Amino acid sequence: MPRRKIIAGNWKMYKTIAEAVGFAYEFVAGAERVGHEIVICAPFTQLAPLKRAFSGSDVKLGAQNMHFADEGAYTGEISPAMLAEIGVDYCVIGHSERRQYFAETDGTVNQKLKAAFARGISPIVCVGEVLEERDAGKAFDVVKRQLEAGLSGVARSDAERLVVAYEPVWAIGTGRTATPEQAEEMCAFIRQTVGGLYDDGAAERVRIQYGGSVKPSNARELLTKADIDGALVGGASLSPADFKAIVEFDRRTNPGN
Ligand code: 13P
Repeated sequence: MPRRKIIAGNWKMYKTIAEAVGFAYEFVAGAERVGHEIVICAPFTQLAPLKRAFSGSDVKLGAQNMHFADEGAYTGEISPAMLAEIGVDYCVIGHSERRQYFAETDGTVNQKLKAAFARGISPIVCVGEVLEERDAGKAFDVVKRQLEAGLSGVARSDAERLVVAYEPVWAIGTGRTATPEQAEEMCAFIRQTVGGLYDDGAAERVRIQYGGSVKPSNARELLTKADIDGALVGGASLSPADFKAIVEFDRRTNPGN
């Protein structure tokens, strides 16, 4: 069975509730039914209002982070149980900005992955190297380590539901996209690594996104690669028109528009 493409917007720390709901109505009204799975990963305050705004549409809802405990004395944190109560479908885990600014490690990523699966939330786990690592020829080692540590002890039945986002840190918010060949090469390597950790069936089913300066003008060349099953889109997902153009990447005759 071919893998269904999954295109997710990561809004990061942008939009008020009013702006988020405005986006939802505009996006849902304008979006034709595409065959792909569409997800918006929004800040916590917007999740419940967006759940209502997206009801009756096919758009799924994602959070951008969560704690691994269901409750506890963790001031300022949000638990998987709290997200499940809202009806969140996905949660981004281990985004490079969280690794860089909020001390996330492969160890916390692993705990969060397991907690998400336990609550029926599908994780979108982010991996990717920084520029110095790529220049030193270490990109594949870094991504392999992140995957092995992140997936340690994760059951095969859960691993099948996993989404992995390959986001080279040097391509995030820089306008410098990885070439389709670089992105495909790493996504194929991620699939092979998942196959090594589990088996060929798990490798076939896991969905692998590319993220890093994805925009309407480059979405098609990235998303038509064999091992790229979707995109995790930052800046360009904030505009309903741009995000619509990305999710309709296979409908437009002129990908530059
Ligand atoms: P940009 O699309 O803005 O480069 O962000 C990518 C990203 O970090 C998505 O998670």
